[in-house]
Amino acid sequence: MKVTLEKLTKIYPHRVKKGEFVTAVSDFNYEIPDGKLIGLLGPSGCGKSTTLNMICGLEKPSSGRILFGDDDVTAVSPENRGVGMVFQNYALYPHLTVRQNILFPLQNLKGKDKLTKEEMEKRAEEAAKLVQIDMLMDRKPNELSGGQQQRVAIARSLVKMPRVLLLDEPLSNLDARLRLQTREEIRRIQRETGITTVFVTHDQEEAMSISDSIVVMKEGTVQQTGKPQEVYDDPVNLFVAKFLGTPPINVFEARIEGGKVMIGDDAVLTVKDEKDRPVWAAIRPEGFIIDENGPLHCRLNAVEVMGRDISVVSENEAAENPTVRSIVDADNLKKLSGETVSFSVKPHKIFLFEKDTEERIRFEKKG
Ligand code: ATP
Repeated sequence: MKVTLEKLTKIYPHRVKKGEFVTAVSDFNYEIPDGKLIGLLGPSGCGKSTTLNMICGLEKPSSGRILFGDDDVTAVSPENRGVGMVFQNYALYPHLTVRQNILFPLQNLKGKDKLTKEEMEKRAEEAAKLVQIDMLMDRKPNELSGGQQQRVAIARSLVKMPRVLLLDEPLSNLDARLRLQTREEIRRIQRETGITTVFVTHDQEEAMSISDSIVVMKEGTVQQTGKPQEVYDDPVNLFVAKFLGTPPINVFEARIEGGKVMIGDDAVLTVKDEKDRPVWAAIRPEGFIIDENGPLHCRLNAVEVMGRDISVVSENEAAENPTVRSIVDADNLKKLSGETVSFSVKPHKIFLFEKDTEERIRFEKKG
């Protein structure tokens, strides 16, 4: 089921300041293709949950429309939209068994949707099998691990065969290992069912790893959409560049001077037809090459060996953060001695942004 968001906007009265308003989501336009998993990503308060709540019908948009396929569902109540929701706090009924928890949404179906007892049992079994908890059906939630409980919550949201599945930070309560495992599970389940899914998270790595496409939001507005790798390789502004990637991108106060990009006194890149001005230069950790004749000089702080790669921690006065992190092949280890380290920079791993607007400068390389 294709989901279309058209100029979706939500304005709340301010919680504290009387007479003031908060624009939680502003003019959100997006088409979620049928059967795809979309990661909605951004820092706390950027409007992710509000967007999700409008898609499921818990919140009414201030303006704009939501379409499921060709149906305008903007005014349709949540129970009639055919959406499954999984929240961070999955709130299973503690006094019910896994089977009863999964059956619960089916028992409330009315009219033409009403199912026989056999049909309900069959659906519950199928949903439990899909999330691989069919052997735990007679346990109570407190007899399950966090990951197993989350699977029950997913089974419960799938049992009504939703047209759209909405997941709001579903992994936040799990420890690191379970998070990893459960996110792979969610991906598998989504692929097997082909249900159009929106996955909300503030964790960029999580979103990048499982989404077909990501939507990066800031203060209620969409910054950029696209396949995770495309957005990573081609950010439209400094916010997106900084938000994606671990370790994060290294940002330097720089300037264009006579066709050269200068970080301090180091000319790191040559550009064509750009007027002299201050800029932000941002270099991905994998964009540095250790090169004794390289133009960028940093003070060497530490070298962290991570097996195949090493992380070189250094300092540069023009860097926005005190430390510069670069990831290079472990073969470079022997080149790292002394107090300074020199780098050349891979031209496709350095991005320039306007100093004031922080918009990307699409420069042409010289030569
Ligand atoms: P988080 O990751 O912290 O959950 P989020 O990206 O999901 O954040 P939202 O919960 O959608 O963000 O909130 C977006 C903005 O709208 C925030 O500034 C928030 O304070 C505000 N907001 C959300 N719900 C309400 C409400 N019911 N009344 C007033 N303001 C609200």
